[in-house]
Amino acid sequence: MSRTESDCLFCRILKGEVPATEVHSTPTTFAFRDINPQAPTHVLVIPREHITDAAELEAGHGRVLADMYVTANAVARSEGIDGSGYRLVFNVGRDSGNSVPHLHLHVLGGRVMSWPPG
Ligand code: 5GP
Ligand code: ZN
Repeated sequence: MSRTESDCLFCRILKGEVPATEVHSTPTTFAFRDINPQAPTHVLVIPREHITDAAELEAGHGRVLADMYVTANAVARSEGIDGSGYRLVFNVGRDSGNSVPHLHLHVLGGRVMSWPPG
């Protein structure tokens, strides 16, 4: 197990201490359904390593970031939204509404989305 934080919600999901609906799992990433979905498909892709948010990323995180996008691609295919399209989102900081301090990539799809986001 990579470095985790005992009081971090998503680290606790990784350890099986908090239940989640798994969509995809790899040695470095985990994908599960958002508890409050904002689209027919709303999956969160997280690294197994605890990284607080995208503002904490450094060049050395390149491998795990690529792994997260490869997992998102697998999720899009398995959810059947790879043809229709989808949105990938990292929220960072207060104005974005970021609420869980463990890096997570939102995979949103299954409906037409507006731009700019609200
Ligand atoms: P953020 O707003 O930080 O970018 O996204 C956090 C996401 O985590 C939200 O969409 C929220 O619904 C989801 N979330 C919060 N707590 C839980 C939980 O216990 N389980 C799951 N599956 N999702 C959660
Ligand atoms: Zn964590």
